[in-house]
Amino acid sequence: MRNDIEKKLSLLNLPSIDELGYNNYQLLEGGGWTTNELPLGCQQCRRGSKGVLFIGPACGVNCYYCTIDRKEVHVSKINERTITSLDDIISELIAIDAEGVSLTGGDPIIYFEDTLKAIKHVKNNFSEKFHIHLYTSGTFFKNNQLAKLADAGLDEIRFHPPDASWFSTIKEAKDFSWSVGAEIPAIPGNESFAIELASFLQKIEGDFLNLNELEFTNSNANALLDRGFISHEDNEAVIGSSDAALKILADGAKVAPDVILHFCTSVTKDRIQLRERYKRRAKNVASPYETPTEEGLLSFGQIDIDQSDLSTEEWVDYLMDNFDIPQEMIGFDRKSKQIFLPDYMLVAIASDLDEEMRESISMSLVEKYPIDEQIITRVDPLPDKELEKIFLGEEE
Ligand code: SF4
Repeated sequence: MRNDIEKKLSLLNLPSIDELGYNNYQLLEGGGWTTNELPLGCQQCRRGSKGVLFIGPACGVNCYYCTIDRKEVHVSKINERTITSLDDIISELIAIDAEGVSLTGGDPIIYFEDTLKAIKHVKNNFSEKFHIHLYTSGTFFKNNQLAKLADAGLDEIRFHPPDASWFSTIKEAKDFSWSVGAEIPAIPGNESFAIELASFLQKIEGDFLNLNELEFTNSNANALLDRGFISHEDNEAVIGSSDAALKILADGAKVAPDVILHFCTSVTKDRIQLRERYKRRAKNVASPYETPTEEGLLSFGQIDIDQSDLSTEEWVDYLMDNFDIPQEMIGFDRKSKQIFLPDYMLVAIASDLDEEMRESISMSLVEKYPIDEQIITRVDPLPDKELEKIFLGEEE
């Protein structure tokens, strides 16, 4: 992998990592890299231990590449869950064993009172060490709002200034004892802005500059296409964004040697962060009949009994009496007429059940996301001889 980066640097006629003097440079799973230890907020994101608190969609800056649909109805969310009270934030953070939370939007400063309340509530419910970072364009601050955020316990603030005229707010943020950095997309053809920002951060002793791989979303697709950007075949990342990041890396060595430069890929956000967060949640929310998978999903066996003469309760008794399945391992939904068992148990008994019940039931192995909304990702009909081999360890 390191070779890939070195090859790219050479193809772009740029010096090698060693020549650039990045002694602590690290490659990251997912194709990203960092020139020094990652900001704490990013470390937690990568571990899946950072909750994402979406305060609201509004932001008046109108960046053409914005990945958010800013005209959406105002709904606040913590991860995938809609917030109806401040305690929803806490219970969701507990569900993922969170070490921290990030506040994002839109621009959370537009919703300043909600933002402040959320920070205080989280700090009151977790230890002082619980890490909170916030993304902002830096264009909506009024009066002493920076001081209020600092007083509330915000640990890290990340600016996304639309242009250099807003750099002064980043400097003002340096008056407080938190980590100050910036986060912008790596835009092919616009590397000079990132270099200017890196250089400014160096001057004010800012901590980091995160470069996000530019990516297509529903909200920015037309604007990106209008500017001639295209995506890779196998993901939504813009071709050329990772090269732009390498050019910034090379110039950054000259103008901002003390600022951490970190390139976060689209794959990292879509797969690694989410997968790790789902893994943590799956472990905590799994019912006795659900098994967390390596991908952070929940796997279980399902029997659909809507054509059966037996009631749900009779089915539970039948499974306990005939297959020795402990009651606590059996789940059911009376409304949908479904019985749930651990995946390996249903795979093991599926052939016998099929013999006995024939047309009155259907059985399947199901995987779903470990979130409140029911999103099924996979359904395999049972009985299945291949699955039996895999689950019952009869593989050759
Ligand atoms: S500042 Fe951020 S949230 Fe606002 S429009 Fe730009 S990218 Fe979107």
